Amino acid sequence: MQYVAKNVSVIGDTGFSPKVKEASGTNIDRCYQCLTCSLDCPVAFTMDYLPHQVVRLVQLGLRRKVLTSDAIWICANCETCATRCPKDVAIPRVMDTLRAMALQEKVVEKGKDIVVFHHTFLSNIRRWGRQYELSLLLQIKFKTRDFFSDLGLGLRILWQGKLKLRPPRLKDVTGVRAIFRRIDQSLARGEWT
Ligand code: SF4
Ligand code: SF4
Repeated sequence: MQYVAKNVSVIGDTGFSPKVKEASGTNIDRCYQCLTCSLDCPVAFTMDYLPHQVVRLVQLGLRRKVLTSDAIWICANCETCATRCPKDVAIPRVMDTLRAMALQEKVVEKGKDIVVFHHTFLSNIRRWGRQYELSLLLQIKFKTRDFFSDLGLGLRILWQGKLKLRPPRLKDVTGVRAIFRRIDQSLARGEWT
């Protein structure tokens, strides 16, 4: 993997970084660009900006660049970076905040595959209380109109019984839905941005 910083301008929105710090509850000023987060991130190889670069873009106030990046959507919130960061920078919380900001500011490219995945993933959890992979797979295929790119893999995991045909049954699905409702209310009050 190559860790080459992209060419970024340093003239940014000075109010952006304080806003991200406040909304995420994370002091990104502590980051001293040691790259530990990027070296340990399991999905960094698919990102346009590596985790430490996302932090740097926020510090520089390059709002548009970071809010339209793929990296903020690719982050799987696995917490590896937060666990290893020597300066206690909670990158997953920063990524959450940036995703919420990108949606609120409507800068997300319509129909972007990774965003379709996020919406579908969460709406399935809201509906079933946990993930229903077959439904997730079929919905994403229809929404992205990409029916055949990984057909072989899909058939193989179906054949191996790894895709359940029936939706999961959860006793307290209403409890899960209540969590989503609270998040909706919090977003409507603008508490994340
Ligand atoms: S591990 Fe922490 S201090 Fe190091 S670059 Fe990443 S966020 Fe910054
Ligand atoms: S939380 Fe996101 S940025 Fe951090 S290691 Fe996991 S996937 Fe990478």
